[in-house]
Amino acid sequence: MTDARPDRYHRQMLLPGWGAAGQQRLAQAHAAIVGVGALGSVIAEQLARAGVGTLTLVDRDIVELTNLQRQFLYAMGDLGSPKVEAARARLTQINPDCRIYAEATDLRADNAEAVLGIHAQRPAVIIDGTDNFETRYLLNDLAVLHAIPLVYGGALATGGTQMTVLHDPPSRPCLRCVEPDPPPPGTLPTCDTAGVLGPATAVIASIQAAEAIRIILGLASDTPPSLVQVDLFSGQFRRMSLAGAHDPACPCCVRRQFPYLAGTHDTSERLLCGRNTVQISPPAVSRAPATPAAPPAARRTLDLAALAARTQSLGPTRHTAQSVSVTLAQEAAEVTIFADGRILVSGTTDPARARAIAARIMG
Ligand SMILES: [Zn+2]
Repeated sequence: MTDARPDRYHRQMLLPGWGAAGQQRLAQAHAAIVGVGALGSVIAEQLARAGVGTLTLVDRDIVELTNLQRQFLYAMGDLGSPKVEAARARLTQINPDCRIYAEATDLRADNAEAVLGIHAQRPAVIIDGTDNFETRYLLNDLAVLHAIPLVYGGALATGGTQMTVLHDPPSRPCLRCVEPDPPPPGTLPTCDTAGVLGPATAVIASIQAAEAIRIILGLASDTPPSLVQVDLFSGQFRRMSLAGAHDPACPCCVRRQFPYLAGTHDTSERLLCGRNTVQISPPAVSRAPATPAAPPAARRTLDLAALAARTQSLGPTRHTAQSVSVTLAQEAAEVTIFADGRILVSGTTDPARARAIAARIMG
């Protein structure tokens, strides 16, 4: 199914270090993309078009109107759908040879290894398309522990940053060598407060996609470690060397302490940054590695069809493969329940009120 097709991929196979052998490597590779918003939707499209055989897409969110300015995979008809579902539908149209696992979930310490398939079909690369430091440091823990390359990217306002974490030789820096701790929540501007330029996210995402392709083709380790910074309005493109950035006392890649993967940072209710939305997480599940015999679908428990049948009487209901959304006119709120038990309550920033609204539906 994922055999290289020379006609489709001919133009990229002409590139140095690629050829039929490189195309075959791509077809056999699995790339995990965490976050399919502005960065991840561009990365996923680039990798699907390039012929990466398997993509795991992870995102906890639904498509909203303010996303369409920069999140290239989505259109008006996707509003209210889980991003990973809309992304899978579009990517399958683009390249039906690409196998796509769509995970509408919040990547957490207790599910990250199973969701990313690390124990089943190990990813050749993990790509960070998230907008929060909590997940970003969790990914660094995972990448270092399992020696999987990590392609980090971030975009804000008119610019962005990109860094690739490789593990061979071990003298290369990880994310925590460069930035030992995440900034305290609320101390940095976000896309919701500072705005974000669509082309800036697309440039950073394209650099990330190129890095992922180079890693899969085996071309990345020749390049010295560096941090790329871009600002499209001032026209500045900078590459800072990270050749001396490895910290010989790094808690992560040297001392091999993985606090983010140990799960001490999880909270059950969380205000989603600047969004007038509260996320209510399901109770943590025991850490059970995915196996080929127990694909990701086996972890889902909610009967969404039955739930949608019950919610019809409460308000207009939208039922997709991985979610049920209900609009509650009286509460001026929209509640989205995902198959993994996670709930988004839009229309409030008060966790107690969000829980009360969710209880109207979930009991
Ligand atoms: Zn380190």
